[in-house]
Amino acid sequence: MKQYDAIVIGLGSMGSSTVYHLAKEGMSVLGLEQFDITHDQGSHAGQSRIIRKSYYEHPDYVPILERAYHNWRVLENITGVEVYHRTGLLYFGNPEHQLIKGSKLSASTYNIPFHPMNDEEVSIKYPHFEVPQDHEKWFEPDAGFVTPERAILLYVQLAMRLGADIQAKEKVLHWNRRPDGITVTTDKGVYTARKLIITAGPWAGKLIPTLSGNLSPSRQVVAWVKPKNWKDFEMGNFPCWTLADGMKPGIYYGFPILDVGKFGGPIGLKLAYHYPTGKTDPDAVSRIITEADEAEIRYILDNFFPNSNAELLTLKTCLYTNTPDENFIIDFAPGQDEDVVIAAGFSGHGFKFASAIGEIMADLALKGKTFLPIGFLSAKRFA
Ligand SMILES: Cc1cc2nc3c(=O)[nH]c(=O)nc-3n(C[C@H](O)[C@H](O)[C@H](O)COP(=O)(O)OP(=O)(O)OC[C@H]3O[C@@H](n4cnc5c(N)ncnc54)[C@H](O)[C@@H]3O)c2cc1C
Repeated sequence: MKQYDAIVIGLGSMGSSTVYHLAKEGMSVLGLEQFDITHDQGSHAGQSRIIRKSYYEHPDYVPILERAYHNWRVLENITGVEVYHRTGLLYFGNPEHQLIKGSKLSASTYNIPFHPMNDEEVSIKYPHFEVPQDHEKWFEPDAGFVTPERAILLYVQLAMRLGADIQAKEKVLHWNRRPDGITVTTDKGVYTARKLIITAGPWAGKLIPTLSGNLSPSRQVVAWVKPKNWKDFEMGNFPCWTLADGMKPGIYYGFPILDVGKFGGPIGLKLAYHYPTGKTDPDAVSRIITEADEAEIRYILDNFFPNSNAELLTLKTCLYTNTPDENFIIDFAPGQDEDVVIAAGFSGHGFKFASAIGEIMADLALKGKTFLPIGFLSAKRFA
């Protein structure tokens, strides 16, 4: 039986970047994925993910984001393929809302370009929106989106070229830590390694029982719609955006229409409501779209794009993995010394970080430490 330096469970957003960063360091790596690389059963499907730095969730994320931007550029330079697209991001919200307060705090703490806009500017440049009067309007020019499926495939391809063993359609059933290393049992075989990295997304709680109470997968819905004035909403004419109206918890967000020739489907203007629904089992989640799902999307269109006359085209489900404070868990697994490293609980805002998380996972596995400030993401905060 081949003994690996490291085994990575889950080759989605974080695992794909992890296998690449481990292989780059010359480690013998096995990456195990239960489905295809990529797929739509977990958290990474759907063409685009917003990337931004004026991080309302917590300013401590900003140094990790700086590294993520850097690492996305490195990936682009190595492969010659674009994964980051700079569209700018519009922020709308009441000055007291965390979206506005927190974004301003991160921007001022770290000198991130983040500009206020007045009503007239917004109505001239972005007449697409109907925004409540009391809302502040801000613009972050270096924000935009990254392409999840493309980035995952690129990282896995690079890892394979560097000699990583990659197994798709192979599900990990359980793992054990013994004095002489880690044993991983799948539905096809048994493997051993010195280190184990668990990047299993919504399934992480099933593989790390000590954390399952703090990892709640939730069913989320994303829509692609057809506005009457299609061209006005295409990339180049329309940015990414996010809005908190305070009427409901959470925020709304969306993207410009992307060219399907370049980005693939689904076709249309993508938008969604970012607010975790209740805990669900990732193996038993309903993928059927309900009237309530559609009503949520219509609320966004009716309230903030009343003149778009948009029709629903496609609705899809996707999974978040939420922690109680909606911050990630990046740490050694509790009770496993430094042999098992975990990245989980990305709470619906993790993809933009994937390029940095893979590097952090590799550093924790190889050196037992990272140069990035991840203390606030420790698993111990839930002990
Ligand atoms: C609708 C939606 C919108 C989002 N929007 C944004 C956004 O705009 N910006 C942003 O930054 N983030 C966004 N996110 C969040 C981001 O996509 C996630 O945080 C990120 O994809 C999580 O990555 P992950 O690696 O933890 O999970 P995944 O990408 O799902 O990867 C986990 C992988 O592990 C595999 N796996 C699990 N168990 C096993 C096993 N036992 N054996 C083998 N393989 C296994 C799974 O099959 C899966 O491929 C969004 C998420 C959703 C759902």
